[in-house]
Amino acid sequence: MKISRRKFVKNVAGATAAVGALGLTNCAPKDESLKEDLALLPKQPKGPVKEKYDVVVVGAGLSGLQAAILLEEAGYDVLVLEGRKRLGGRVYTLENIPGKPEAAGEWIGANYARMISMVDKMGLKLFSPPMTNDQRPWMYNIKGEFITKEDWSSHPLNPQKGEFRDLLPSQFLSKISNHENPLKDQPLDAWLKPEFQKYDIPHDDYLRSKGIDEETIRLMNVTIHSGGMHRTSALNELRRYHVNEFNGKMQFPDGKSYKMIEGGNSLLPRAMAESLNNEVLLEKTVVAFREKNNITEISCSDGTAYNADHVICSIPISVLKNVTFEPLIKGIAAEAIDHIGYGLSIQAHFQVMEPFWEKDGLAPNMWTDGELERVAVRTIRYEGQPEALVVFINGPESLKFRLMTDEQVFAYCQNKLAILRPSTKGLLKPLLIQSCERDIHGAGDWVYWQPGQVTKFGNNMRPRHGNIHFCGEHTAIMERGMEGAFESGERAALEIILEA
Ligand SMILES: Cc1cc2nc3c(=O)[nH]c(=O)nc-3n(C[C@H](O)[C@H](O)[C@H](O)COP(=O)(O)OP(=O)(O)OC[C@H]3O[C@@H](n4cnc5c(N)ncnc54)[C@H](O)[C@@H]3O)c2cc1C
Repeated sequence: MKISRRKFVKNVAGATAAVGALGLTNCAPKDESLKEDLALLPKQPKGPVKEKYDVVVVGAGLSGLQAAILLEEAGYDVLVLEGRKRLGGRVYTLENIPGKPEAAGEWIGANYARMISMVDKMGLKLFSPPMTNDQRPWMYNIKGEFITKEDWSSHPLNPQKGEFRDLLPSQFLSKISNHENPLKDQPLDAWLKPEFQKYDIPHDDYLRSKGIDEETIRLMNVTIHSGGMHRTSALNELRRYHVNEFNGKMQFPDGKSYKMIEGGNSLLPRAMAESLNNEVLLEKTVVAFREKNNITEISCSDGTAYNADHVICSIPISVLKNVTFEPLIKGIAAEAIDHIGYGLSIQAHFQVMEPFWEKDGLAPNMWTDGELERVAVRTIRYEGQPEALVVFINGPESLKFRLMTDEQVFAYCQNKLAILRPSTKGLLKPLLIQSCERDIHGAGDWVYWQPGQVTKFGNNMRPRHGNIHFCGEHTAIMERGMEGAFESGERAALEIILEA
């Protein structure tokens, strides 16, 4: 991220404040190496660090920023600490890649009331990006055989009979899971009600009980973000498609159901952070919360510490394993921290040096049941920009990449692609590897519930721990995704405001 003049001034002021705090004020940096050392010293907010803030918010993703804005509006003095070098968490526009793809939070639903209102308040605009789906068709590669979209319904490898015969393999997971969804027409929080706990079982078992065959379940496993169909609660999937269906029914005035932010979704967290009175502090990885006499000390990995009457913690739940709490978190909440998992995925981005699809005459985009899963030439393309391509692998197939460096992931994808599609050989230039879990601050894509976990943890994600209140999409009740993050930030802020 380009460092703004304001941030630059802050960092210089911060280094000076830290030098003072360490009793080194007389050691003015005379040589360059000392200046470099000083740049590594802890950063502090512009001006002196306050002895105590009303609220410290940890995490500058959408949930944390929403909470911070609401609390500030209610008159609280709020400081936001963010572990990464950038704002936004799982909202991250890859600005250096042609087409500026969104690495994570991408589509804004017409019913995302809180988010749409914030976009408006920040002076940003929603838009429908220029799509090239028509010129960039998809084809399928199943069991090594290329199959066009048009041929699929009559193809011998299509395992479906009757009403599902026209479904494409990429639609199996959502459409078949949502078929006769017991949550249909229920309110969005129904997944947490006791009468639906009978569906808190492995998703593959649920589908088998509905007569779904093994080949269909195998193909559904390609699309799943979790650790596999058998490791995912059916209730998790039923909730997903229930919320999706609800969202899909709503429309913007121009008839579209989903939009993005003009210029990239990252503009929103940036604008939200910029609107706060106290500057959001980056590179502040929180490692401990210690509460004494109703005041919480929040310690960061760089040795700095901040005090607050209240804390809002938006750290993804599985990352909390690595954070110290005094007093300890015990019981069900501790078990949730230990066991809840996040969706897995990895994206390998490449620049396309020549349109390889013109050489082999096949469709540019592929959905496969093999190791590469999905290979897509950017559907959103701006005039004059080069072509880019992403290999998107999620669920169990992506686990092996935890054992590889970025260079090894690029080579793996290029080699596998060259076998599947020789026309790509030598034409893909590595650009960037992106994965929400490939970072100490990220747990993965989004929370997913394993069999039995909705029943056990679903209603135990939100209780405060002393002065610490929790938010983040993993604590949302009604919505999921970015709107779920807003919903959770609002709830956590209200817990503090209404208590006063
Ligand atoms: C591939 C992908 C596609 C998606 N597509 C969509 C979509 O189309 N539509 C949609 O609505 N949603 C989508 N989502 C989901 C959406 O991006 C998230 O639900 C939402 O952004 C989560 O916001 P959050 O505030 O809960 O968490 P985060 O954005 O993860 O915020 C948490 C913040 O805490 C910081 N942090 C972590 N640990 C520490 C620490 N120890 N100290 C200090 N800071 C710390 C992190 O760096 C991060 O900034 C997608 C996600 C992914 C991964």
